[in-house]
Amino acid sequence: MYLKRLEIKGFKSFADKVDLEFDKGITAIVGPNGSGKSNIYDSIKWVLGEQSAKTLRGSKMDDIIFAGTESRKGLGCAEVSLTIDNSKKMFPYDYSEITVTRRLYKSGESEYLINNTQCRLKDITELFMDTGIGTDGYSLIGQGKIEEILSSKSEDRRMLFEEAAGIVKYKTRKLEAEKK
Ligand code: ATP
Ligand code: MG
Repeated sequence: MYLKRLEIKGFKSFADKVDLEFDKGITAIVGPNGSGKSNIYDSIKWVLGEQSAKTLRGSKMDDIIFAGTESRKGLGCAEVSLTIDNSKKMFPYDYSEITVTRRLYKSGESEYLINNTQCRLKDITELFMDTGIGTDGYSLIGQGKIEEILSSKSEDRRMLFEEAAGIVKYKTRKLEAEKK
């Protein structure tokens, strides 16, 4: 299971559609300052369901929509699709690839899709639970993340191991059941 493809359109500095293909193993994003490296990282977090504008380095959610430049008008919608390899059928879908898509319109309306079918944010969050891929998963290592893991409190570090061990799903269900 690995991130295979990322399609970005209208997200932050990416006004035109950008298609990125990733290989198995580790992918590092390099480039000059301000070229959009962190924006790529943000787009992956966003499509996986990130709800905090601050985590995405903005002050409100629609800051992620291409705001325009001196020579180009801003856009009315941002869209990101992330495709994950499912050839080993790790996800409960009979497809060899899973594509999750998120759209946000300037009007505030938003959409989530799994393999082009509309779904809820909750469906996406649950899909990635225990896979290491979710918004807080360890498949995305941002600037300063290693340092943060090494210096975190043991209770916080425990969450990383719980995710890798695949028990977050059960803990979440237990908490939900206790609430009812
Ligand atoms: P560094 O090496 O300094 O970390 P970086 O490659 O990570 O740089 P980013 O932070 O990804 O760079 O990109 C910053 C650029 O994205 C800035 O030029 C900023 O103006 C642009 N940007 C951010 N949000 C938007 C938006 N909504 N619309 C248009 N451009 C945007
Ligand atoms: Mg950066």
